[in-house]
This record gives sequence, structure tokens and C-alpha cells, in this order.
Amino acid sequence: MARDEPTVELENLRHQLLELDGRGYKAYKDIQGRYDGSEFTLIIDYVQGDPFASPSKCRVLLPQSVAGFPRSLYRSRSREIALRDYLTRQFSLWCDRISDRRGTGKSGLIATCRMGQEVLERTSAFVNHREVELRFVVGLPARGRRILGRQAAQMLCEDIPQSVDRALYYDNLDAGEIERHVETVEDADWLRDRLSERGLVAFVADRSILPRQSGVDPRPLQDRAVPFESPPSLRVEFDCPNRGKISGMGIPTGVTPIVGGGYHGKSTLLSAIELGIYNRIPGDAREVVVTQPDAVKIRAEDGRQIAGVDISLFINNLPQGRSTTQFSTANASGSTSQAANIVEALEMDAKVLLVDEDTAATNFMIRDRRMQALIAKEKEPITPFIDRVRQLSSYCGISTVLVMGGSGDYFDVADTVIGMEDFRPRELTREAKAIARQYATGRREEGSEDLGEMTERIPLPESLDPSRGKRLVKWQARDVDAIAFGTEDIDLSAVEQLVDVAQLRGIAEAMVYAKQHYIDGRRSLRDIIDAVMDDIETGGLSEIAAFPQGDLAMFRRFELAAAIDRLRTLQITSNPS
Ligand code: ADP
Ligand code: MG
Repeated sequence: MARDEPTVELENLRHQLLELDGRGYKAYKDIQGRYDGSEFTLIIDYVQGDPFASPSKCRVLLPQSVAGFPRSLYRSRSREIALRDYLTRQFSLWCDRISDRRGTGKSGLIATCRMGQEVLERTSAFVNHREVELRFVVGLPARGRRILGRQAAQMLCEDIPQSVDRALYYDNLDAGEIERHVETVEDADWLRDRLSERGLVAFVADRSILPRQSGVDPRPLQDRAVPFESPPSLRVEFDCPNRGKISGMGIPTGVTPIVGGGYHGKSTLLSAIELGIYNRIPGDAREVVVTQPDAVKIRAEDGRQIAGVDISLFINNLPQGRSTTQFSTANASGSTSQAANIVEALEMDAKVLLVDEDTAATNFMIRDRRMQALIAKEKEPITPFIDRVRQLSSYCGISTVLVMGGSGDYFDVADTVIGMEDFRPRELTREAKAIARQYATGRREEGSEDLGEMTERIPLPESLDPSRGKRLVKWQARDVDAIAFGTEDIDLSAVEQLVDVAQLRGIAEAMVYAKQHYIDGRRSLRDIIDAVMDDIETGGLSEIAAFPQGDLAMFRRFELAAAIDRLRTLQITSNPS
């Protein structure tokens, strides 16, 4: 590892680079190592093979005595993650400024990660009382395959030190802005921790702006946005450590349909709740929308594969006598995919299910009286969600928030009904219950009382293979939608709570790590994921990475399981070998 190599003065790197000028690109390999500047250390961990290959990986280390960040900014875990996020953003700003095309391919590139609205734990920056570390990549400059030594010296020995100076010295940053960043994140974590004791699944602060600029622009909608205003009957107050008293809508545990006319803001509210598992940056306008950390978005995902999932809670008596206690398919229907998505989430201990009618399978959600009369129960494999949602809540403590503008049948099973009207929520529980009494649906409940046991799912080691050709491990993340894992493509486009490509990289590394350490044909998927998440908890995300990488971000157990569950080669047994 670079850490143990003898150190060289940064000035020597400049000479070395000037001498490399004009030589073949491979000669850059010589600069791998550790260089001491007057105030910081530059480590070049990995040098790219050619100007088009993935860029070279570097780190800077700066003693805290020089960087000067007050202890209060990283004294708790929330604060530390927020500060690391802030420093990555600042360094990234400078990278964008000084990054320049300086030759062929990626020549001249200087970059950290691309950052969105969420504050995630990342491997891009680290802070403790000893030092500050920032990881980034550079495209070492070349014309064709000839090294441009002068440009490289400029990048590594002048531009990088300048970025370090501007972005990693407390005295050169806006103290008030850092404070806000850290306090915003701390408040959100604090609030999320309070939800359970108040019996809430989510909290949406008054004056939040939920709608976004567009489907591809996650910044808040500007002019026409109607600020969130809680209905008095659902209003709750908190006294946050930093921002003090705030009020907003608390969504209680239990079953909560969100109703209302089309285009009145139902789905927008649900997406804000979905992403309330994450902290956001100041200015996002959803900083104070928080959701239980074990809330999972559920949707139909026809076409996905399913490996040995017990979906009998929802699906039974399939044609041709196919088993639904260990259901496998390469091509699920809307309803079976939604059933599997729920069961897989419950397997990982989800406590809140979030469903939007826009992306749900209708026949999975409802089966009304007329349909019950026409199609006998024996001819319908599906036990609709409406017949399970109460049981899940009463017997298992699993709450559901569902957008349901299309069927009033859910009034019977609801604890709280929220109506959206002109983007403003109202509580309609009493009205909905009165209507339910007045117009009985006459439908028969179809679920048996017995919810059954969860069967263990044990992944077979050989069914999870990260190798490709001569490479033992080869993966690539494609935006937030897919991971190429070995020779397989994992489609994650329906896993809607993934927000950042860096999370997919983290998941890919975690899958390789799981395969190397825990997938042994005896452990259950649940135990495997517990073990991986425990290791990350103890050692940090860097712990599971094969080498120092700056572009990994934290993910939840649910999304890691979702990726493994969507690997098309995955095979499951319930009998340990
Ligand atoms: P629904 O699910 O009820 O049909 P959506 O949540 O999809 O409605 O919202 C419809 C449109 O209204 C979207 O373009 C959304 O961005 C916009 N919108 C949602 N909430 C607000 C709001 N509070 N202020 C202004 N526009 C909003
Ligand atoms: Mg909608």
C-alpha cells in the first residue's frame, strides 16, 4: 500500500513529471506513491493505463492542526458525515473550476463525486482530530499516448494544492454555511430518531416545498410551488436541537391511504416521504421531511426474476400447480413481482411499506365485490393487498402509506385518511369512515388469519459470480439504474429509493465482499446482509472496498438485498448444504 512507501517531496514529483514529458503513457506508472508538500501529503494510489481508461486515483491528507476544523463540527456521527459531505462539495466545486481539457481522452480531468440533494456517507472525504482526507481522480494528461509532463506538473503540483487550500482549510471557508450544513443534518437525524416514540412513520414540516423542478431536476420547484401546510388534526411539534420549534404533519403508524383528485399532489407527497430516509442539503426545501429508516417503496415490476421467494401470503393456487412457497420465475407478472417485492422487504425487516397506485398492479391492490362474484376465490390466486394490509399492521407492526385515488374500498381498513386538495393535505378519516358505513362494499375478506412463517432463503455461492473473462472481479455501475456484475446486468430501475450512482458502486463492492466472506451455502440471505452491514457499521464503508476508492456511498440493507435479489443467476435453497 502507498501508505507504507517512503515519502518524497512534492517538489520532486514536479521534476519527475517534467522528465516524463514526451515519453510513453505507461511511464506514468512510476509516479505512484506518496509525496509531501509543505502542508499536505498527496498520495497517488493508482495510475491509469492510458488516457482513455478510468482516471488515476489520488488522495490528499492534511493534518487537522493545519486544516483547523473545530471539533464541534465533527463531534457526533451526524455532524461528521455532514462535514465530510460539505468538504466533498467544496472540493468538487474547485475541481470543476480547474478541471480542463489538456490533451487526449480524460487528460486534465480532476473530479470527486457528483453530488445530489442527499447527504450520504461517502468514501470521498474523512475527518478526525488527526487529519482531513479527500479522495479524487485525475486524468493524467497526454497527447495521443505521449505524456504531457508540464501539464501534469501544473495539475498535481499547482492546481491540486490550490484546491486543497481553498476547500480544505477552515479559515478559507464560510463558517456560517458549514454550521448550517452540519446543523441541518443533525436536526434531521434527531427528528428521525424521535419518530418511533411519537408513533409516527413520517414527518413533513410546514413550509416544506415538496415538488421538484422536473423529473430530471431534483431542485425545488420555484414560483408556482404551494408550501406544505399540515392539517390541524395531524399537526405535531418538535423542539429540534438546532432549529428549535417546528411544526408539521405527522403520519401515524398504521394504514394510511392518501386520497384526492388526479394532479393534486398525492404522488409528490409520497416521493418526499420515500426519500425522507435520507438527509438533504440546506436549500433543498425538504430538509425537514423525515421518514422511518426502514420504510421501503413497493411497486410492481413485471419482468423481474424471482428466486425462491415465499409469496404465499399474497399468491396461492397458481395454474399448473406451481409452488408459491418457493416461487421462482424469470419473468414475473405485475402482481407476483409486487408480492415478491413486499416479501423481500419484510425479510429484511421493513417496518413501513410505501405504495403508489401509479406504479402498483391494480389486481394486487383491490378485488371488489363484483369481481368476487364473477371470479370465484378458488380461481383467483391473488389475495389482494387490501386483505393483508390490516393484518400486517395489527399482527406485525408493519405500517403502510399508500396513494389510492381510485378505490374507496381501502376506507374500511384505514387508520388515517389523508386527502390532498390543491396540494394541501386534509385529514379525512372521519368522513371516509362515515362513507364506509353508509356504502358498505359488501366484499368478503379473502385472507386467512394465518400469516405463516418466513422461510429462510439461502443463496448458493456459485450463483453469485463477479468474474468476467480473466478478471476475478469486474463490475460497473450505470447511473442509478443498473449494475453490470460479472457477466450479468442487474436492473435496479424499479428500486426507487436509490438516489446516487455511488450507492450502486457501494452495493457492487458489498456484493463482492459478501461473496468472499459470507455466502457459503449455509447462511441465509438475511444473515449475510446482517453480517455485511455490521462490518460496514464497525469499519466504515471503506472496510468492504478492495482498495481506497473515493466514489462509494452508503446504502441500506434493503437496497443491497434488492440488488442480490435481482441478479438473474441467483439460486436459492432453503436447506443448508
Ligand atoms: P397526483 O399524484 O395527485 O396525481 P402529483 O403529485 O403527480 O399528483 O402532482 C401533479 C403535479 O403537480 C406535478 O407536476 C407536481 O410537480 C405538481 N405539484 C405537486 N405538489 C405541488 C405543490 N405543493 N405546489 C405546486 N405544484 C405541485
Ligand atoms: Mg399520482
